[in-house]
Amino acid sequence: FDLLKHKLGTLRITQKSGKWIAQISVTIPTGEGTGLKVMGVDLGLKVPAVAVTDDEKVRFFGNGRQNKYMKRKFRSVRKALGKKKKLNAIRKLDDKEQRWMKDQDHKVSRAIVDFAKENKISIIRLERLANIRQTARTSRKNEKNLHSWSFYRLSQFIEYKAKLVGIKVEYVNPAYTSQTCPQCSVRNKAQDRKYKCECGFEKHRDVVGAMNIRYAPVIDGNSQSA
Ligand SMILES: [Zn+2]
Repeated sequence: FDLLKHKLGTLRITQKSGKWIAQISVTIPTGEGTGLKVMGVDLGLKVPAVAVTDDEKVRFFGNGRQNKYMKRKFRSVRKALGKKKKLNAIRKLDDKEQRWMKDQDHKVSRAIVDFAKENKISIIRLERLANIRQTARTSRKNEKNLHSWSFYRLSQFIEYKAKLVGIKVEYVNPAYTSQTCPQCSVRNKAQDRKYKCECGFEKHRDVVGAMNIRYAPVIDGNSQSA
């Protein structure tokens, strides 16, 4: 309700799945920070997000195992309903799954931005995803595209929540962010979850991703669009 103290725009009322939804646009001034503290965020499946600040604070977000479990659960219920040809129930279940996933993205993005705020971060860097345009359109066709789509949505949530508190989001070139050793710059492939380099550097592979994303080249036209 705090948001309603700002300049209000159009109110729209819609009905969806038997529920009334009121949407109102609000104009909020976003003072962009002038600090230089950077945080890299790596998005993934096993670990939904890992953040590393430029003073090496690490935080893991979300629960990949739980996400996988929920997905499997939804799938098995859907299959049972399919056998009984309960199409309406399947539609409702799909809506429920969508809402659940969206809610997870809201929680993870909220936690990431809160962590950035706590650490007085001015810039959050994320990987720019490839072929979003195509991915959005074919998102239901295969798992990989579906994943890209969910990374895209999570990125968007992080971006707008960050903006509201004056933190800028920049997108970087994803090339080699998971392979380059943050200590000596040699490229290695991570073995399973662990990243090891002959220089002695050793860390969780997603932490390495986030470390490299912090300082990877920023792509112009910061925002990505679908
Ligand atoms: Zn190394």
